[in-house]
Amino acid sequence: MYANIIVDISHEQLDKTFQYHVPDALLSQIDTGVMVNIPFGRGNRIITGYVIELTSKAEFDEERIKDIDSVVPNRVKAVEDMIKLAAWLKHNYGGTMNQALKTVIPVKEKIRQKEKKHIKLNVTKEEAKEFIKNAKRKSPSKEKLIEYLSDREEADMDVLKNETGISPSTIKSLENDGIIQIISRQLYRNPVKEDEIQEDKISLNNEQKNIVDDFIGDYDRGIRKTYLIHGVTGSGKTLCYINMIEHVVRQGKQAVMLIPEIALTFQTVKRFYDRFGERVSILNSRMSKGERYDQFLRAMRGEIDVIIGPRSALFTPFSNLGLIVIDEEHEMAYKSEQTPSYHARQTAIHIAETKNASVVLGSATPSVESYYNAKKGIYKLYELKNRAAGADMPDVAVVDLREELKQGNRSIFSRKLKELIEDRIRKKQQIMLFLNKRGYAGFISCRSCGYVMKCPHCDISLTSHNNGRLVCHYCGYQTGSVKLCPKCGSRYISGFKAGTQQVEEMLKKTFPGIRVLRMDMDTTSGKDGHEKIISEFAAHNADVLVGTQMIVKGHDFPDVTLVGVLAADMSLYTSDFRAGERTFQLLVQAAGRAGRKNLHGDVIIQTYTPDNYSIVAAQKQDYEMFYDDEISFRKLMGYPPVMHMLEVKISSKNEGNLEKSCDDMKKFSDMADDKKLFITGPVVPQVYKLNDIYTQVLYVKAADYERLTQFKDNIEVHVKDNILYKNVSVQFNFD
Ligand code: ADP
Ligand code: ZN
Ligand code: ZN
Repeated sequence: MYANIIVDISHEQLDKTFQYHVPDALLSQIDTGVMVNIPFGRGNRIITGYVIELTSKAEFDEERIKDIDSVVPNRVKAVEDMIKLAAWLKHNYGGTMNQALKTVIPVKEKIRQKEKKHIKLNVTKEEAKEFIKNAKRKSPSKEKLIEYLSDREEADMDVLKNETGISPSTIKSLENDGIIQIISRQLYRNPVKEDEIQEDKISLNNEQKNIVDDFIGDYDRGIRKTYLIHGVTGSGKTLCYINMIEHVVRQGKQAVMLIPEIALTFQTVKRFYDRFGERVSILNSRMSKGERYDQFLRAMRGEIDVIIGPRSALFTPFSNLGLIVIDEEHEMAYKSEQTPSYHARQTAIHIAETKNASVVLGSATPSVESYYNAKKGIYKLYELKNRAAGADMPDVAVVDLREELKQGNRSIFSRKLKELIEDRIRKKQQIMLFLNKRGYAGFISCRSCGYVMKCPHCDISLTSHNNGRLVCHYCGYQTGSVKLCPKCGSRYISGFKAGTQQVEEMLKKTFPGIRVLRMDMDTTSGKDGHEKIISEFAAHNADVLVGTQMIVKGHDFPDVTLVGVLAADMSLYTSDFRAGERTFQLLVQAAGRAGRKNLHGDVIIQTYTPDNYSIVAAQKQDYEMFYDDEISFRKLMGYPPVMHMLEVKISSKNEGNLEKSCDDMKKFSDMADDKKLFITGPVVPQVYKLNDIYTQVLYVKAADYERLTQFKDNIEVHVKDNILYKNVSVQFNFD
C-alpha cells in the first residue's frame, strides 16, 4: 500500500504530492486525512504531511519509495477533517483530489496581516516613576509616556503617537528596559461593524414556538437529524433559525447558516448580528481572498459561533459544529457548477453526520427531493402555515394569453394586468414585474392554443437548434422545424422571445410618466449594482421594478401590492426535468413578494398554458397539489429523486477528438452491460458549442446512487491516460 502525501496545505502547494510506502505496522492507523511524519529530501529530515490518497499503485520505482516514519501523536483534527471531506467530495461527485481539496480549503493569500499594536506598563506606576527619577539622563518624553500610560490600562499605539507625538525610539528604549510592553494583535478583517449592533428581540408566535421547542427537545435528548421547515412566504422562518442556532450556541457549539448569495442582504444579516453580536461572521463572493481566509482562521481559533454565507460557508473549520441551517433550500445556487459539482444540501447532511450535528432545511417551496425524504420520514417535517407579521396571503389570478390574442390584445400586458398597474400608480403603491426567464429559452410553442413541442420519449420540451431542427437533449430524438401548429393549425407557432429591456420600453410607452427600475444582468454588473437598485426601489423612487428571478429573493418591500408574472411559460419549457418544479417555485416566491405588510396584495400570472399543473398549483398556492403531480411525473419517467441520474459531460475544443471519444464512450457504456443502469447518449445538448468548446452528454440513470458513483469511477479509470481522450475533458454532474 502506498500513500500520496501533501506536505503543505497552503493553496499553492495542494497539487504537489509525494508518494510513500505504508509499512505493515502502520497499516491499521493510516487513512485519508491522517497526519504523518515522513523522511523528506536528501537528508531525510523528518517533516509532517497529510495522507490524501491511498493506492496500491507505485508511481515510480518501488525501491526508491521511502517508508512513512510514524503517525503524528497529537494531530490537528481540523485539517484531517477537511482532507477526509475532500475525499468524500471526490468520491461522490468526481474530479481530482486536487480539485476537491481546493474546494474545501480556502486560498491563503500571501499578504502581511494588518497588526494592531497596543502598549502598556510592564511594571507598577510607582516603579516606572522611580525608574525615570533614577535615570542618568533626564528624558522629558519618557516621562511624558509614563505619565500617559499611568492613567490607562493600555493604549492604542496609533492613538498614542497622534496625541503625544512621542517618537518610536523613545518607546523602543523603554521597551528594552522592560518598563513597558508592546502587544501586537492580529487585526482580523471583521465584516461586522460593532456600532450597528443592537438587541431587538421579537418573540416567537405559537406556530414558530412549537417548531423551535420540538427541535430543542430533540437536541437536548441527543437526537441529531435533518429537519425540513415548510413555511409559507413571510411565515418567519428566519426567526426560527435564529432561535435554534441560539440554543445550540448556548451549549458551546457552532452553527453554519447558508443563505443564497442573492438574499444575503444587509437586512437579513443584521438580524443575526442583533442576536449574536461579534460572534457571528459572514462570507460572500465580493470579499477578497484575504478577507475570506481571515474568517476561516477566526473559526479555527474559536472566535466565532455562527457563520452566514453561500454554499462555501459549509467548509468553515469549526471545532464543535452543532447545526447547519440551509435557508431557501430549493435554490439552484446550492449546487456547485465547478468540479466537484457538489450539492450543499447533500454535503451538509454528510458533514452533520460526521460531526454529530443536525441540519435544518427551510423553504416556502421545498425541493421535490427534500419533500420526498420528509414524506418518507427520513427528514422531520415542520410546517408554518401563516404569515408572521399578520399580513394575509395575496390573491393570485391566472390570465390566459390565448384569450387575449383572440380578443385582439397582442401587448405583453393583459387587460387585467394593465388595469391593476393603473390602479396601483393611482394609489402610489408599488409593482414588481417579473420575467421568469432562465438562460436560453429555446422551446417552440403555439400562441393560439398553447401547444408545446415535446419529446415523445422523455416528456421534455424539444429545443430549437441553429440548424432549424428540434432536438431532445436527453435522448437525441430529432424532428424538423414546424410551420403550422400540429394541434390547431395556427401560424403563430414559434420560439419565445422577450427581455427585461423590451418590458421596460413597453411600460414607458403604455403608461406615460411611469418610473421604472430594471434589474437584470446588465444593470447589476457593477460592484453594488444590485444593492443600489434595491435601495432605490425601497426608497420609493420608482413605481415598478422589472426583473428576472433575481428580484424574487429575500427583499421586503412593504409598498409592493402587485406582482405580475409576464410569461410563466418561459421557465416551464426549458429542457430540464426540473422545469415544472422551477416554475412552481418561481411563481410562488414571486407571489410572496406581494402584500408583505398591511396592504392587500394581488398577483397576476400570465400564461399560454393555464392548465399546466405547476401553474394551477401556483395559482392556488398549494404545494401539496404541485408535489403530488410532480412526483408522479418523476416516478413515471424515472427522474430524481425516484431514481438517480448522472450526467457525463464530454467536451473538447477539437470536434474530431470529441467524436472519437464519444464513440468510445458509447462502446464503453454498452460494455457495462449492467441491467441496473439505464444509459442514453452521448447526445448533443442544448448548447453544443460554447466559447469554442464542443460538448456532448451521456445520461445514466440508476435506482441506487452508489451504482452511479461506481460507474463514474470506472469512467475515470478508463479515461485516464487513454489516448482517445487526449484534449478531451470528462466531467460529472449527479442528479
Ligand atoms: P420567511 O423567511 O419565512 O419568508 P421572514 O423571516 O422574512 O419570513 O419574516 C417575515 C416578516 O415577519 C419579517 O418582517 C419578520 O420580522 C416578521 N416576523 C417574523 N416572526 C415574527 C413574529 N413572531 N412576530 C412578529 N413579526 C414577525
Ligand atoms: Zn396551436
Ligand atoms: Zn427524448
